[in-house]
Amino acid sequence: MDKQTVIDVDNACYMPVFARYPLVLSHGEGPYVYDNEGRKYIDFLAGIAVNVLGHAHPKLVAAVAEQAGKLIHCSNLYYTEAQATLARTLVTASGLGKVFIGNSGAEANEGAIKLARKYGKAIQADKVQIITAEQSFHGRTLATLTATAQPKYQQGYEPLPGGFTHVPFNDITALEALISDKTCAVMLEPIQGEGGVNLPDPDYFNKVRALCDKYGALLILDEIQTGVGRTGRMFAYEHLGITPDIVTLAKGLAGGVPIGAFIATDKAAAAFGPGDHGSTFGGNPLACAAANAVLDTIQAEQLLANAREMGGYLMARLNQLREKYPALISEVRGQGLIVAAKLTQPGRDIVNSCMHQGAIINCTAGDVLRFVPPLIINKGHVDELTAILDKTLAAVQL
Ligand SMILES: *Cc1c(COP(=O)(O)O)cnc(C)c1O
Repeated sequence: MDKQTVIDVDNACYMPVFARYPLVLSHGEGPYVYDNEGRKYIDFLAGIAVNVLGHAHPKLVAAVAEQAGKLIHCSNLYYTEAQATLARTLVTASGLGKVFIGNSGAEANEGAIKLARKYGKAIQADKVQIITAEQSFHGRTLATLTATAQPKYQQGYEPLPGGFTHVPFNDITALEALISDKTCAVMLEPIQGEGGVNLPDPDYFNKVRALCDKYGALLILDEIQTGVGRTGRMFAYEHLGITPDIVTLAKGLAGGVPIGAFIATDKAAAAFGPGDHGSTFGGNPLACAAANAVLDTIQAEQLLANAREMGGYLMARLNQLREKYPALISEVRGQGLIVAAKLTQPGRDIVNSCMHQGAIINCTAGDVLRFVPPLIINKGHVDELTAILDKTLAAVQL
């Protein structure tokens, strides 16, 4: 199909929930993707923080092909080596006790919410309240869009599940005023991703941890975007000096193969017994083999160190652009390779114009350019991206 045919067929047949860019992508290699007319793009979105190894990484391709040739799926009525291996790696890396593997971020959070409810009710029948943050994003299922404290994701879907309340992010006083022995969980992103790459104050999470301990509430960290090396550590909470009771992962975990996981302390996980949760596809050997390859490669290629180094370099480059275009960029912020340039105006035109010049970036929260490239990038790739952005900003400023 040619480009226009693909677009026309999709528009005619696919539910109209996505405001898509008029781009038909066909393949990729490393940090580049190609459209079906052969144009090349440097990809600093990576499928929304998913393609951590870039595109067509030989080790991921080989692992998926090999597993597909053996066993793609067999249900959770049986054991597989791929699942056991991934479970052990995630439990060891997190320092927590037990994992459950599903198919997406929302599903991971949904499972974490269910576990927290069971855990709370076992202590006290009305210990069911879940506190989340404004500007958060936790997914699109009914429970997770309720946890997501942004009306734009909720409107039209009422009645919403009960028991969720919200506080401003990074506001410990507000949390202290709301939390009680009826709270079963506080669920937060270590860095808010979709909400605009919002970083907490250095001591915020220590205080959240202390409040959760005081009231016997579980601390759920949604690391669906920040986990798997994105911030330069396997988990963003390693920067914070705390451990959660439950952490959720998805996006980068299998390098693009659908997967989600929640990992809990043994104490929290004990609230689940046989039959309490489940999934047909979740933890299938194909997705687990892909995740095993991703986690092995992050280690073998020292991608955590690379994410820290390239993140620093990217922020330095963006700060040069902020100095050059102070009327357009008001702030550069981030950690590792989740980086943002806050604009003084809506970002969609800039994203569009970068796309026409061969760079894929993203705008979130209306006016925040978000950069979540593959963790394999080098300085040359950063220079390529920032050169395109420089040209774009120069044209906007005119
Ligand atoms: C993307 C995201 C989700 C939802 O993941 P899906 O796979 O789209 O369901 C949840 N939480 C955070 C922090 C995310 O970035």
